Amino acid sequence: MAMISDIYGSMVFNEHTMQERLPSATYKSLLKTIKEGKPLEIEVANVVAHAMKEWAMEKGATHFTHWFQPLSGITSEKHDSFLDPCSDGRAIMSFSGKELIQGEPDASSFPSGGLRATFEARGYTAWDPTSYAFIKDEVLCIPTAFCSYTGEALDKKTPLLRSMSAIDEQANRVLALFGEPHERVVPTVGSEQEYFLISEKDYAKRQDLIMCGRTLFGYAPLKGQELEEHYFGAIRPSVNEFMKELDNELWALGVSARTKHNEVAPAQHELAPIFTNANRAIDENLLTMEKMRLLASHYGLVCLQHEKPFAGINGSGKHNNWSLSKGKTNLLEPGESPMDNLRFLVFLTGVIQAVDDYQELLRMSVASAGNDHRLGADEAPPAIISIFLGDELDAIVDALVDGHEYTNAEKVAMDLGVAVLPNFLKDNTDRNRTSPFAFTGNKFEFRMPGSAVNLSDCNMILNTAMAKSLKEFADAMEGKSGEEFEAAAIAYVKKTLAKHQRIIFNGNGYSEEWQVEAERRGLANYKTTVDALPCFVDPKSIALFEEFGVLSEVEVRSRYEVKLEKYTKLLNIEVRTMKRMVRRAFLPAINAYAAEIADSITAFKTAAPGAETSQQETLLHKLLGGIKEIDTHLQKLDSMHHAAQKMENEQEKANVYAHEIVPVMEALRAAVDRMEILVDRDMWPVPTYNDILFYV
Ligand code: ADP
Ligand code: MG
Repeated sequence: MAMISDIYGSMVFNEHTMQERLPSATYKSLLKTIKEGKPLEIEVANVVAHAMKEWAMEKGATHFTHWFQPLSGITSEKHDSFLDPCSDGRAIMSFSGKELIQGEPDASSFPSGGLRATFEARGYTAWDPTSYAFIKDEVLCIPTAFCSYTGEALDKKTPLLRSMSAIDEQANRVLALFGEPHERVVPTVGSEQEYFLISEKDYAKRQDLIMCGRTLFGYAPLKGQELEEHYFGAIRPSVNEFMKELDNELWALGVSARTKHNEVAPAQHELAPIFTNANRAIDENLLTMEKMRLLASHYGLVCLQHEKPFAGINGSGKHNNWSLSKGKTNLLEPGESPMDNLRFLVFLTGVIQAVDDYQELLRMSVASAGNDHRLGADEAPPAIISIFLGDELDAIVDALVDGHEYTNAEKVAMDLGVAVLPNFLKDNTDRNRTSPFAFTGNKFEFRMPGSAVNLSDCNMILNTAMAKSLKEFADAMEGKSGEEFEAAAIAYVKKTLAKHQRIIFNGNGYSEEWQVEAERRGLANYKTTVDALPCFVDPKSIALFEEFGVLSEVEVRSRYEVKLEKYTKLLNIEVRTMKRMVRRAFLPAINAYAAEIADSITAFKTAAPGAETSQQETLLHKLLGGIKEIDTHLQKLDSMHHAAQKMENEQEKANVYAHEIVPVMEALRAAVDRMEILVDRDMWPVPTYNDILFYV
């Protein structure tokens, strides 16, 4: 068997391969592009493209593609072969620098929120050399950004890359004040992906799973997750085989899949990679999601990545671990020396300020129809953004704000005037699972993102908001040095923490009291997607994105529209699927069973005059009552759905779906579910939660 180290990255045109395959001058200038963001000369691109093609063909590749992330959130690819016919009837295999750096997919069918219509521009794709090219299923994939010819971003990657430049610039201004030489600062991301695995046979029998990725009906299973037997439990052989193949495929693609385990809900699992640069980490996450979906079929399984495939048990999230690194230094790592600690405090304060000032945007970045079922459902953080710092750091912040002396657990007095932090702070592994944004020793863990989301949005916002905090600090400090800088920096930290302390919350985020307390503190609490989305187009948000060149106003508006439309389209599909299943599957089944009971009553009475049939009659009445109730909700849903479809204002339409139609969908579901436990098991038209959740 091949060693992991031989497989790892074997399908990636990484730095090692570049060095091996490229002339040294080409390698050096490509490295400059990668590390410093210098533009790539076409001559260099030609050499790189040729080497890439030779390498890819040796690995069996026949095609190449510009791999990109349109606003629909998933990845897109169109394969072109390397084939280049010659005039004598033969063909050579070619791949030019131009083909490497720029592509022109006929991409008119991707959502653009009206952008392409406005600018009459076709989209083009441009290589992101900071993400490695890789080979997937005999295709050389080139990670690219997708823009219109007038320069508007039509994808998720472009603004992310812009936000990374913004944070790099501002962080370096701050670090220069600490006397540190210029070196690229990058946000790092590690994403923990949760998912469900169910059998293909069950999946195929449920239209809701096929069309919506989640069950729209289903009575609670006889047992849920209360025995806590699935979490970290022994992994079943079929699942284990799947995980092994997944690991191998991901390792070959240079995705550092590290941890795999069973999650809390039955049939739920998780995969966590080792963190890397934000843009690469997101590419890797998207590849991971794709491989999960595709490889599951080898084992008769289906991988569900919806945020809430089953009601009543945990849904799936995707924790976004985030930090900033400069070379080997993690800027959110408390240091050994007082100056390192001051730097840590400045960056920590920057995050606290950013998250408080742009809490609405962060909430918005994870808003989706699927995640609405998860946030605040006692399994994931509520829809309120807050920060958990842990007892130690919290006490330090308190001391800084109040100006009192900080005394740690061992009663060692700390002189915060020179920003001494207790040394054991970094070992502080105190965890609060209910916090949406938790400091976990040397990084923050954003726990709101749902399993299906592309993490570009939340990282783009986090980076830009952080760039803003750092800019304000640098603006206030520039020109100061030595002791004057230290004193001013500490004063700045104190003042800023005092202003933003309301966002810090170390208590139970799932509790009722927190909802009340958060309101008292003036924190935003947008319970659904439709409530959260409008803040995207707030003047304050637009100003932030424009200040750092991350998104223009038109780009922001187009994104807002795409998100809204996606919401109403998904809800429309869910309503249609519900109606279809009720009419064509559930009502016929309940009717058939009721008829069977009615027939049996007549038969009993004929066979044994005077027979006691009150039990059968009660059941029959329950079934007939259920049918009537279902029909009432169905009619109501139907007319509300038709009215919603006619609405022209997309936000108003979305509001109607979220606040008026969703409750009727829930009532309809409950009515059907109540019948599920009365009707003969063999007559129920779909596999139940009991069938689906405990057999894989
Ligand atoms: P957990 O207890 O949540 O599993 P881990 O320490 O295993 O905590 O980290 C979870 C994720 O956080 C992993 O993907 C890991 O690579 C990532 N991570 C660790 N350090 C950083 C960092 N500095 N920046 C971004 N992500 C990080
Ligand atoms: Mg975690």
